[in-house]
Amino acid sequence: MTAPRYPLVIGDSRVDTPNWIPVDDRATGEVIAEIAAGRPEDVDAAVTRARAALPGWEALGPLGRAEAIRRYAAVLDAHQPVLAETIHREEGKPLGEAQAEVARACEVMHHFAGEAERLWTMQLPGPTLSTGSIVRPAPIGVVAAITPWNFPVALVLWKLGPALAAGCCMIVKPAEEAPLAARMLCDLATEAGMPDGVVSCITGDGPVLGEALCTHPGVDKVAFTGSRRVAEQIAAWASPRLKALSLELGGHGSLLVLDDGDLDTAVEVALVQGFANCGQACYSVNRVLIPRAMEQEFVDRLRPGIAALALGPMATDRGRDRHAMLIEDARAKGATVEGGALLDGNYVEPALVTGAGPGMLLVDEEPFTPVVAVMPYDDVDEAVAEANRPDYGLVSYVVGGESRRTLEVAERIECGTVVVNGWRVVVPYAPYAGWKGSGVGAELGHPGLEAFIRWQHLRVLA
Ligand code: NAD
Repeated sequence: MTAPRYPLVIGDSRVDTPNWIPVDDRATGEVIAEIAAGRPEDVDAAVTRARAALPGWEALGPLGRAEAIRRYAAVLDAHQPVLAETIHREEGKPLGEAQAEVARACEVMHHFAGEAERLWTMQLPGPTLSTGSIVRPAPIGVVAAITPWNFPVALVLWKLGPALAAGCCMIVKPAEEAPLAARMLCDLATEAGMPDGVVSCITGDGPVLGEALCTHPGVDKVAFTGSRRVAEQIAAWASPRLKALSLELGGHGSLLVLDDGDLDTAVEVALVQGFANCGQACYSVNRVLIPRAMEQEFVDRLRPGIAALALGPMATDRGRDRHAMLIEDARAKGATVEGGALLDGNYVEPALVTGAGPGMLLVDEEPFTPVVAVMPYDDVDEAVAEANRPDYGLVSYVVGGESRRTLEVAERIECGTVVVNGWRVVVPYAPYAGWKGSGVGAELGHPGLEAFIRWQHLRVLA
């Protein structure tokens, strides 16, 4: 049986291309679909359609857009099961994790429908009611969203929700490794009655489409999530053209356990966030920093939890190879590694590493594979310095007693998000921001909405 083909989504049109890219089921290797390999001329068509849609979409006003986003969110809700199943197959995430990703991402869409309603214009009145300073939030314009494969639905909706609320039009370029669910989101915009051209999806080769989008004069902003290597390339295209940019990049999460911290909580945080999505999460716990006296008990409690994990397959072949390389590097440099073997197909064994330290790749660079290193410390300042050492600053975790000291330590961690005494990271109403090498700008919360706004001051003198 031939795999179904999914054309480009250019507003209300569905466009075939001369070439197609196979997408496989990560668990079985079976080709489940072919996606259109978009070309620069397809990018141009999508940008033209978006520019044509922009004035009408803005003119709908905040309340009109809120209604349209709410309708769209309801259609997405109705498709949650198929979206989750699609992610599960194309990316390999266990179905329960895929369902959670889709459910949380749909909440983001509802949140930004509400944010559209609260998009106030401000006025500082002059001597008469019609004079003074009017400050209004105008949409930044046409936005290209370039997204990775590890959270293929969430990372599109984190951009699409606020962009639509602000009055922008968006062209989504999902990762070629897992493009189906992201494309489906854009396909459903038509079903939800979004005006033609407001939402498009161009699938295909990253570098070719990245260059076409980032250099196109009709694109006002590029919102990117992915690796630092690609972010630098995107900035090199977009910055000389003075396009607005937001970059959400990788992390190297630490879990700092204080001497009055609850060990069960620490073990739970390490297990859930060390191995979620097979370690392929930007908010992963990569290093556990623990008082030396507590290390052995922590490791003894973590070990059976790791043994009981049921991980999905790795989403990419290069991720699988990287797992083997990181473990070999750590062993060669003197660490003790439990687990970490390559298994059949795309599966790997999770790894627990002790005796690791700076100079080992998995301690210095984002691993992006299921591996957690446990590193003992002797005083808290030393632990905070290690938490802040690598050039990342996305998400870290602190487990400590319910005291002021725990919060003071959390504040000293140079990360956009620090989670205290638990593992749930993301809420729609608070910003998710990468500090240092983890990015520029923020998604979600009010900052995530402002990222799609340009302010206009109408200085009305008479
Ligand atoms: P990636 O950078 O390889 O790819 C991201 C996107 O860029 C894809 O759409 C890809 O097709 C495109 N791309 C690839 N090469 C390109 C090029 N030369 N020019 C233009 N575009 C190109 O990243 P990935 O491997 O898909 O994702 C993993 C990375 O994303 C990790 O570092 C992870 O931590 C990060 N991430 C960050 C966040 C966050 O919110 N901060 C969330 C999830 C993932």
